[in-house]
Amino acid sequence: MGSASAHPQKPVKSVVIAGGGTAGWMAATALSHLLGKSLSITLVESKDIGIVGVGEATIPPIRTFHKLLGIDEKAFMNATQATFKLGIEFQNWREQGHSYIHSFGITGRECWAGEFHHFWLRAKEYGFADEFGDYCPELVAAKQGKFATSESMPLNFAYHFDAVAYGRYLKTLACDAGVMHVEGDISQVNVCEQSGNITSLTLADGNAIQGDFFIDCTGFKGLLIEDALHTGYDNWSHYLLCDSAVAMQTELAGPPVPYTKSVAHSAGWRWQIPLRERMGNGLVYCSRYMSDEQAIDTLRNEVVGNPINEPRVIRFTPGKRRMGWNKNCVALGLASGFIEPLESTSIHLIMTGLVRLMRLFPFDGVTQSAIDEYNNKFTSEMDAILDFIVMHYKVTDRHDSAFWQQCQRMDIPASLTHKLALFEQTGRVFLDDGDIFRVDSWTQVLMGQGMMPKQYHRVADEMSEQALKQFMAGLKQQVDNHVAKLPSHDAFLAQYLG
Ligand code: FAD
Repeated sequence: MGSASAHPQKPVKSVVIAGGGTAGWMAATALSHLLGKSLSITLVESKDIGIVGVGEATIPPIRTFHKLLGIDEKAFMNATQATFKLGIEFQNWREQGHSYIHSFGITGRECWAGEFHHFWLRAKEYGFADEFGDYCPELVAAKQGKFATSESMPLNFAYHFDAVAYGRYLKTLACDAGVMHVEGDISQVNVCEQSGNITSLTLADGNAIQGDFFIDCTGFKGLLIEDALHTGYDNWSHYLLCDSAVAMQTELAGPPVPYTKSVAHSAGWRWQIPLRERMGNGLVYCSRYMSDEQAIDTLRNEVVGNPINEPRVIRFTPGKRRMGWNKNCVALGLASGFIEPLESTSIHLIMTGLVRLMRLFPFDGVTQSAIDEYNNKFTSEMDAILDFIVMHYKVTDRHDSAFWQQCQRMDIPASLTHKLALFEQTGRVFLDDGDIFRVDSWTQVLMGQGMMPKQYHRVADEMSEQALKQFMAGLKQQVDNHVAKLPSHDAFLAQYLG
């Protein structure tokens, strides 16, 4: 690892963001709003090289990010065709014909010694437990297609939005806050021979853009972090077999539901992301077991609603950049790595990377300690997400195709082996430092995928059978009462957004 202190530290006054996709405009908006008085910020994007344009499902912390930036929810939702998202329905993942929802809510109520699923497992043994998800308001609301935001009956939610419109919306906010926008193709990244730092970007028209600090948001290419700085990439395709996607938009065939659909198929899965006026569809697949032509045909046959555009194939290598911060460059978005889109974590990682960068921002010059801190957190976050995503492919009864058979046989990270054994043998879930998914997410997905723990925590035995029965019935009643008062998602969107 290079030492930043071997060269005089240069104060950082100017930041150059390379790339104008979701990552670039999120970075420009956040930096200009929060650190704009101390920094001059320039964003360079090519008008000929498009954005990936498929990241349209999010997870709840995006709301905190929007609050941080003072984004008005209604204005943002109207500008981006957004709908509300309460979770993801996984169809055919455990086995063909089976379905469960991973929702953003809390299931039941936990006590300090053990979480709700221990009480549920005990109640199940007695024979009076309803479905696990029936104790979670978000999950029941999703199933019934209902939604409302209200202070008295809050639901935990995220959004689906149009990726291109989201970029456009952020661009206005960023430019209004003083970000300089330059259109041009970066033809060369110039690096100082002595320090190894990036000094400027040369554009195809010959202009050069100088900066003290650079943010690489150039997508899968990683023009700065990889082509110029040779940071290296940890390839995770032995854990995550899917390496391709085909995306296509269709007209809505019914009111938008408040959740994403993920439907497993013989060599991967298909997504459905409902926006207000159209549906985002895509098929994620492993090119070893499905050709592009087969994927396009499958997608065309399975989508509902008339196509709006032609199917587009996207190739990716699951994995992460060895360092998210190298020299005077931080990579965000696809330039920093891509795990795969199954749990909508990529836009979230842009946000956490940005928040970490702003907290560690090197106003007085880049230091190795800040780089190390950033990279340690980056690594633990990516590793924890990797475990969570790989779990979906490993814990399943599917072995009906060569793809699923390979998933059954494949090695998994040692950390995940441990988590699966702990849950199966004891029913316990302990989170890693970087884990963005809570115990509720792990239990919903582990049990949804078919892993039932052999034991529950004996704290559940502290309640008499009668008390447990009343406790469970009371919780279920609360959820049912809550959801009964909610309007349909569609009616709420019409009333809330006009
Ligand atoms: P891009 O959108 O690729 O933007 C790159 C930018 O760099 C563009 O502006 C381009 O013009 C510019 N550029 C490149 N080269 C040059 C050059 N030489 N000169 C000047 N400019 C240049 N994430 C989620 O959170 N939820 C999802 O549901 C989700 N689904 C996904 C599905 C798929 C199939 C894929 C592949 C990704 C998905 N993602 C999802 C990830 C999400 O799309 C990205 O994290 C997000 O869009 C950020 O992309 P980006 O800005 O890093 O890159």
